[in-house]
Amino acid sequence: MSMPRKIRCVVESITDHGGRVYTVDLAPDGMVPSFHPGQFLHLTVDDYDPADFWPESRVFSIASSPRDRRRLRVCYSVKGRYTTKMELALKVGSEVWVKLPYGEFVIDNASDAVLIAGGTGISAFTAFIEALKPESPRKVWLAYGARKPQLLLYQESHLSQLGHVPGFSVMFFTETADAEFTSRLAALPKPAECFSGPINVAAVLARVPEPAGKVFYLSGPPVMLSALSADLKSQGLPADHVRTDAWE
Ligand SMILES: Cc1cc2nc3c(=O)[nH]c(=O)nc-3n(C[C@H](O)[C@H](O)[C@H](O)COP(=O)(O)OP(=O)(O)OC[C@H]3O[C@@H](n4cnc5c(N)ncnc54)[C@H](O)[C@@H]3O)c2cc1C
Repeated sequence: MSMPRKIRCVVESITDHGGRVYTVDLAPDGMVPSFHPGQFLHLTVDDYDPADFWPESRVFSIASSPRDRRRLRVCYSVKGRYTTKMELALKVGSEVWVKLPYGEFVIDNASDAVLIAGGTGISAFTAFIEALKPESPRKVWLAYGARKPQLLLYQESHLSQLGHVPGFSVMFFTETADAEFTSRLAALPKPAECFSGPINVAAVLARVPEPAGKVFYLSGPPVMLSALSADLKSQGLPADHVRTDAWE
């Protein structure tokens, strides 16, 4: 793994998804160090002098592809004090500092994987999913929950991969039922499902053959992670087959 580096970036674009959820594209001042899908960066909107201490920051999964060394993408949801400050401070053209890469939440290439994401937690999986190749022999399931279909980030990319990669399956969960979205998914050449309510372990396991042989990766807010990892373990999955990207 690369040594973490601090890089100044300019905000290139901000996508407002509604519900105080944003995607931020950054143009780094130099090449991004190599990193793996699932790793994260620290981002500060405060002034930083490289000769001084690193200021207050928060961590965000890197949603962009490791192959793109000239751009970084993160998605954030406004939760508390610092992300509220980010919402006010981040404008196109403004400067931020990041340091990266960090973390060991990397999907193992050897086994079939079940990816479970809540909200902006999908960022930890995006680059991995985008890199899946049609000829890959491994099977990958994505179970992704958000408040409403509009907040299912990267859904077009997921659905495009669903159509191209035979071993990739998708199920979505939204808080309330959305008949139009559900029927759109059902009409796809390779259909996907959308359930209403929080991510439901029983529904996921019912769609994954021989789940005990798969590795489950969970990314999202701490409350979701602890509930779902407890549910998975109570279904008899070995503890080392349940890996979490703990957002604390
Ligand atoms: C590995 C990982 C990946 C994450 N990826 C994402 C992501 O992709 N998108 C996303 O929206 N969120 C992500 N988060 C959560 C994000 O980092 C924030 O913790 C979350 O958004 C909380 O909001 P806040 O910082 O506004 O809350 P705040 O209320 O400002 O702080 C929340 C927590 O931050 C910590 N904290 C408080 N003060 C400081 C300080 N001075 N310096 C450092 N930490 C402090 C404390 O644990 C505090 O409880 C990730 C977290 C982790 C650990």
